[in-house]
Amino acid sequence: HNLLVTALLWTLLWVMQANLTERNMLESDLRKAISQNQLELYYQPQVGDDGRIVGAEALLRWEHPVKGMVSPADFIPLAEQTGLIMPIGHWVLGAACAQLMAWSNNPATAQLRIAVNVSALQFKEPNYVSQVISVLERSNVNPSLLTLELTESMLVNDVNDIITKMNALKSKGVCVSLDDFGTGYSSLNYLKKLPLDQIKIDQSFVRDMLTDEDDVTIVRTVIDLAHGMRLHVIAEGVETQAHRQFLADLGCHSFQGYLLSKPVPIGDFETILLAHNTA
Ligand code: C2E
Ligand code: CA
Ligand code: CA
Ligand code: CA
Repeated sequence: HNLLVTALLWTLLWVMQANLTERNMLESDLRKAISQNQLELYYQPQVGDDGRIVGAEALLRWEHPVKGMVSPADFIPLAEQTGLIMPIGHWVLGAACAQLMAWSNNPATAQLRIAVNVSALQFKEPNYVSQVISVLERSNVNPSLLTLELTESMLVNDVNDIITKMNALKSKGVCVSLDDFGTGYSSLNYLKKLPLDQIKIDQSFVRDMLTDEDDVTIVRTVIDLAHGMRLHVIAEGVETQAHRQFLADLGCHSFQGYLLSKPVPIGDFETILLAHNTA
């Protein structure tokens, strides 16, 4: 009996140790990811109510030399725990702005917008706003083509600081969107205070909308709320024509999801854009 317990304990310790080693290895790999150019942005189209592609959300991909493509869901949390989210977030912003710059010379792409995801930890940095502004100025990009997607998790931080930063960004023309709306801590009180441009309905509500009455109610309420507050409202996770039609009937302004395309490398995005917007 005692022997069994001991054996079990050792196994448990061994598993924990293995997990720690795995984590440490991933962390040191992640450190190298930036310097060795293993990070890449994929782009997922966003369409307006007339069906035209108006821009894209930039989604981070990590091409690990051994593991292959590692999902951001698997490494963003680690990046946040280790502080690596700071250089990674900075890289993402720079890469997105470089893309906006590359598009600016061509009339077919010059109006396209890019949305980037910003971690609450990044936004909390005292010099976050000046970082964004200096990247925009360095790349000579029209700030109003950039949207920052923030999540409700930032609201655990000082709300007055958040408001000040949002206003500073907005005064430069940058758009601010509240991502994953409805899944976090935000209260209507915050929604009233925050100087937002857009809210993004989370895909979890969209997914079950056609079968679950409660999700219909949530989606309808969020869209009505956006209308009432004069905010742009976009839905993510739009997978079928039925989703799209249902959301459009409720007054949703823009759509993003597998219906049009999954996130793809920049070359594929441009191919989709050409085929779609000139059709
Ligand atoms: P998110 O911001 O909510 O992004 C939407 C996620 O849903 C993306 O997953 C996208 O590929 C996926 N998606 C898009 N359309 C559909 C659809 O129609 N159906 C379904 N089932 N899924 C769809 P992805 O690319 O794996 O990214 C996961 C999360 O990682 C993102 O969720 C975001 O929170 C985070 N993330 C991605 N890139 C960055 C980044 O550059 N910085 C930070 N801080 N976080 C990032
Ligand atoms: Ca997002
Ligand atoms: Ca989401
Ligand atoms: Ca998110």
